[in-house]
Amino acid sequence: MQNIRKIMAILAGKLLIVLSRMAGNQGTNFPGRLALKIYPPLLKELGKNTYKDTFIITGTNGKTTTTNMIARIFRENGSSFIHNQAGANMLPGITTAFIQQTDFTGRKTFDYALLETDEANVPLLIAQIKPRLILITNFFRDQLDRYGELDTTIKLIKEAVQGTDIELLLNADDPLQVDFQNQKGLKYWYYGFDASNYDSFTGAESREGRYCVLCGHELEYTRYHYAQLGKYHCRHCNNQNPQPNFIAAELLMDPSIHLQIDKLLIESPYQGFYNAYNILAAVSLGKLAGIQEKVIQKAIANFQPSAGRMENFLIRGKKVILVLVKNPTGLNQSLAMLAQDSAAKNLFIALNDNAADGRDISWIWDADIEVITDDKARIRRVICSGQRSGDMAVRIKYSGFGIENIIIKPSLEEGIGIAISMESEVSYILCTYTTLFASRNILARMQKKYPAPLQEKERTPEKAL
Ligand SMILES: [Zn+2]
Repeated sequence: MQNIRKIMAILAGKLLIVLSRMAGNQGTNFPGRLALKIYPPLLKELGKNTYKDTFIITGTNGKTTTTNMIARIFRENGSSFIHNQAGANMLPGITTAFIQQTDFTGRKTFDYALLETDEANVPLLIAQIKPRLILITNFFRDQLDRYGELDTTIKLIKEAVQGTDIELLLNADDPLQVDFQNQKGLKYWYYGFDASNYDSFTGAESREGRYCVLCGHELEYTRYHYAQLGKYHCRHCNNQNPQPNFIAAELLMDPSIHLQIDKLLIESPYQGFYNAYNILAAVSLGKLAGIQEKVIQKAIANFQPSAGRMENFLIRGKKVILVLVKNPTGLNQSLAMLAQDSAAKNLFIALNDNAADGRDISWIWDADIEVITDDKARIRRVICSGQRSGDMAVRIKYSGFGIENIIIKPSLEEGIGIAISMESEVSYILCTYTTLFASRNILARMQKKYPAPLQEKERTPEKAL
């Protein structure tokens, strides 16, 4: 009887996946949710069908990119694996991923399971599926976390792994992860960066990890790689970076990434220090999984930036770059990246305050927006859009950016049209979560409709596309 319910749950799930695809939806959560209603132990049972290892990837920023890089390594290696899609990283979405790839009896086995999940979901997930290892990218305060939820989450993860033989792969440069090594009996690995030419020595960005997790005193940094990740030391209790097992050195960004991880030369078309961390984390996990170095090297070299995270369009002959920003650290990184681009640019920022974006938008005051006023950034105009375009415009104004060059257009379509049609060499489109997909559709449509450059006689300052 149990078996029949299980098969029914899998069949129903598979059917819903097909139907929602036909309806044009990704349908990633609903099939799993229904299947778990029909047969609650489904995830627990399917989760045992991993022949080698199950890996969980979590952290505030970079987990989707890191997970996709690891998936690429496994694919290059010819391994079979389960992998849940970004945006479906709670239990129902993970269940859907298993249903999709298993057979009707639910007995098909795979080499690996690669499960991306939110930090807060880790205890729930490991209650269902016991992983070999949990990889943590970083702990940054997200836009929703203004009242210490992050500390609670970290504590819950620690409690969940306590007394198990789960391995941890941790970021040695993140001061919020240092005390995992003090948990009894846990097996842990650390990855971290050597000194690089891109480090900074002052802390202007938002830095959540400023205080020592062991004694609460302020940490001293000899260098920052980015945000609170860097070389730190507590004068009060001597807490400092753990010695990494995997060390990235010789970082060069031209702007694509070149680095060495324990003598292994890695090259990637990705850009930015935060992606260098994602690469380091993915390579470290690949090595722990026993994948050959040349396979890892090839996988990372061939792995291209994925849609939505940073996507290029060509509209009216102009390069348009779409970037997702979720929190102050993500915004800082995007602004730092575009400030390094020497082209003259228009900057479009869309800010919504739906539940998925975070209702509280005061995080924009934590971001280091001031970099846009730097002459070298060559920002011509800033177009503020979305439901909270006015709030964003106020924030931009207080950065010291010329008020005459700030434009408020709540409509995404109009705002994007202005960002592209007004004179510049490139346009950056920065979007919070619920503005991303609409903006992406607008850009895809414009790219199809207006591939050729705008003629000089057509160019009017506010010509809408
Ligand atoms: Zn201390």
